[in-house]
Amino acid sequence: MGKESIMIIGAGLCGTLMAMRLSQRGYTVNVYEKRPDPRLSDYGSGRSINLALSDRGLAALAMVGLADEVRADIIPMHGRMIHASDGSKGQLYPYSGRSKDYINSVSRSGLNLKLIEEADKFPNIDFHFDHSCINIDLDATSATFHDATSTAVTTQADVIFATDGAGSVARRMFEKRGNQIRFDNSVKYLDTGYKELSLPSLPDGWAINENALHIWPREGFMMIALPNLDKSFTLTLFIPFEGKGSIAELDTDEKIIEFFKSNFPKLAPYYEHMLADFHENPTSSLGTVRCYPWLVNKTLLLGDSAHAIVPFYGQGMNCAFEDCKVLDELIDEHDGDWSKILPAYQVIRKPDADAIADLAEDNFYEMRDATADPVFNKKRKIELALEQQFPDYYSKYSLVTFREDLPYHKAKAQGREQDVKLMKIAADMLKEDNVNLAEVLSAVRG
Ligand code: FAD
Repeated sequence: MGKESIMIIGAGLCGTLMAMRLSQRGYTVNVYEKRPDPRLSDYGSGRSINLALSDRGLAALAMVGLADEVRADIIPMHGRMIHASDGSKGQLYPYSGRSKDYINSVSRSGLNLKLIEEADKFPNIDFHFDHSCINIDLDATSATFHDATSTAVTTQADVIFATDGAGSVARRMFEKRGNQIRFDNSVKYLDTGYKELSLPSLPDGWAINENALHIWPREGFMMIALPNLDKSFTLTLFIPFEGKGSIAELDTDEKIIEFFKSNFPKLAPYYEHMLADFHENPTSSLGTVRCYPWLVNKTLLLGDSAHAIVPFYGQGMNCAFEDCKVLDELIDEHDGDWSKILPAYQVIRKPDADAIADLAEDNFYEMRDATADPVFNKKRKIELALEQQFPDYYSKYSLVTFREDLPYHKAKAQGREQDVKLMKIAADMLKEDNVNLAEVLSAVRG
């Protein structure tokens, strides 16, 4: 076809979507993945891990013609269901005042598998599983892999996309260039880690409401739940590693069950199930990767390898998918000239990656602490009423999640300004039932 050959390192969510788009455009694409072929083995060691997929991710999937197929396997979540510690009925706070705006729970391994299956239908794309990247020659645009027999294989391409995730080997190669490229690289870890638990499916349905993202905000920690297609839920407990109220204190079965009893009284029938998961699953860390440049010669960091973020806005995958869309638009704009596309991409995209990283860190505190705060909840009620009455009004959450036409950095700037004003208005009107929405809107817009 006469087009350049592209190497993609990492057949995760971002790498497979990018591979598919490039092969649709007629490039020859080789994808190298350290894990075995998921069609022949189970990636997830049997665990159901789900992610929130929203409009930015869906828009990128639509780019390759897959949005409708993916929609068939997702569960809409219309709002946050907040569970108080007294065991009272959960309260639903819709994500938006517009019924068309909601997010979706999707199986991570199911989505990855679908992308691989679809991409593999193209004749100009080849997958190489069991190939772990161990080195990249950034001058020669070549990479060396260990295959399943630990034999070293070196291969070259015109362009390399390193989509090898948060612990990227490619990023380490950039670091080795250190001061030559003035590589600015940091990983900021939270003192909070996470552990996955689950609620089983019941013979007559779901243990809790399936069309919500459930949150148990507690002082210093929180738990969330997202539904799975098999009617189970994946729970994620976000809790400090050490100190008072940390996971380190939960060192006996009695203490763990006591912890469940005092924090999640409504989940009593599932304590034994949750306890088994507690022992089986690791406690993992959470961090934000910020680095720059993302490009050395013809090797580009894309997705989490360039900008892994904490999961509290449910945007990591959506952002990685959007990376592919932004890059795709630049291929048109620069008529396929990679010497222009790649530098333009990193300049355009870096402010957006920084913005969503900031927002995701903020949202940790919002979900953990503010969802239990009356002023915050009043603010959410006012925002929802504004969105219902004025369809062109978007809260900060809606700007980030449902306005895929708006770059993250603009959503952040506008959303934060709105929030400052609305929190003040909500505090002043905490006790008032009848809020004059037109006046509020004019104050916020003013
Ligand atoms: P990955 O999905 O990590 O893929 C990287 C791929 O590279 C993998 O297949 C890996 O095996 C491969 N690889 C790694 N090293 C090598 C190597 N040396 N050689 C070859 N291959 C290699 N995002 C959302 O949008 N919504 C959510 O609700 C959400 N929830 C999350 C919850 C948690 C607890 C976490 C940790 C993340 C969450 N995310 C969420 C973020 C999301 O998972 C990531 O942003 C997304 O997976 C990034 O995609 P990626 O393709 O860049 O990286």
